[in-house]
Amino acid sequence: VTERRILHVDMDAFYASVEQRDHPALRGKPVIVGADPRGGRGRGVVSACSYEARKFGVRSALPISQAYRLCPHGVYLPTRLERYAEVSARIHAIFHRVTDLVEAISIDEAFLDVTASQRLLGPAEQIARRLKAHIRAEEGLVASIGVATNKFVAKVASDLGKPDGFVVVPPGEEPAFLAPLPIGRLWGVGRKTEARLRDLGIARIGDLARFERRELEAIFGKNGGGLWELARGLDDRPVVPESDPKSIGAETTFGQDTDDPEVLRRTVLKLADRVARRLRDEGFRGGTVTLKFRYEDFTTLTRAQTLEAPTDVATTIYRTALQLLEQIPRAGRKVRLLGVSASKLAGARDHPAEQLGLFSKRDERRRNVERIVDQIRAKFGARAITLGSLVSRPAAKGRPRGGQDAEE
Ligand SMILES: [Mg+2]
Repeated sequence: VTERRILHVDMDAFYASVEQRDHPALRGKPVIVGADPRGGRGRGVVSACSYEARKFGVRSALPISQAYRLCPHGVYLPTRLERYAEVSARIHAIFHRVTDLVEAISIDEAFLDVTASQRLLGPAEQIARRLKAHIRAEEGLVASIGVATNKFVAKVASDLGKPDGFVVVPPGEEPAFLAPLPIGRLWGVGRKTEARLRDLGIARIGDLARFERRELEAIFGKNGGGLWELARGLDDRPVVPESDPKSIGAETTFGQDTDDPEVLRRTVLKLADRVARRLRDEGFRGGTVTLKFRYEDFTTLTRAQTLEAPTDVATTIYRTALQLLEQIPRAGRKVRLLGVSASKLAGARDHPAEQLGLFSKRDERRRNVERIVDQIRAKFGARAITLGSLVSRPAAKGRPRGGQDAEE
């Protein structure tokens, strides 16, 4: 049996690095991504930060206000997910030059199974080196890579070398590689398990590897067997190539909590427009529309509606989401976040709704209008035309205040 060769590729400080690459003046500076578009004191959380910012104690998921206190001279930027997704797609295209077995685990992280690629492209280590060089040369970005016989060890390896990491664990050397590392590195070891292991005098993975499987099962039940395997560097999970998305969604966190019905309506329209555009771009139609609603106290509700026929028309998604919004009890409470998504996706090409007679005449007309809008945008930029100008509505007042947008 040939040993599997798995790569874990993880981009270093991805969002911040893309910003530094796009804006050379930011290189070498503490860059914090996730800020309110209007300035550094917004209410978001840090979605990424450069290594220069980490020196000040800034980390991902820290509230921006706290980051600002730690690093007041940092450069605070709003998240530009569309831009990062674009760069991510190009990096994925580079991955696919060496194997079709690519499993994306986030926008900046993936597993690659290159076992079969070695026959044509040489040893896994060489493939990984070339990959790293191509990403640097073509995208100006740094990837940390771990090479091992399985996902778990490859992931630990890529992480260990960061930043600019390149760590190869040769077959058979997994237990020795893992032995000196703290047990917190094991998958599935949360704070509780870690505390219990420490009580037993187990601090490093090597300490754990000395136990018999049944001893660990006696202490940790079913999880004991998993711990025993990981401690020896055993992990037979396959790399599962990406499949079609399960849902396509967009959401907005308001710059200021609001109960203004006109702001809510316009936001639902904006989100529906983004979702529909992505559906059309990616060749899908959604059969179910879901509205996500977060109150100012963070309580979150979702309401879903299945459509008569799958759609990629913004107006249809908008009208459905608006009906869902009306079902949500508001009683004077303000809204912090709104999200719209489409799920039960069907490929537009596989199931042409028109041919099945499922697309209503009205949907078809709206769809044609939106196609024209797509073309205008492609030619003159996204801001050239808004769907709002095409959808009937009550008199408008004010625009939604600047908030934070995120895409699923
Ligand atoms: Mg990363």
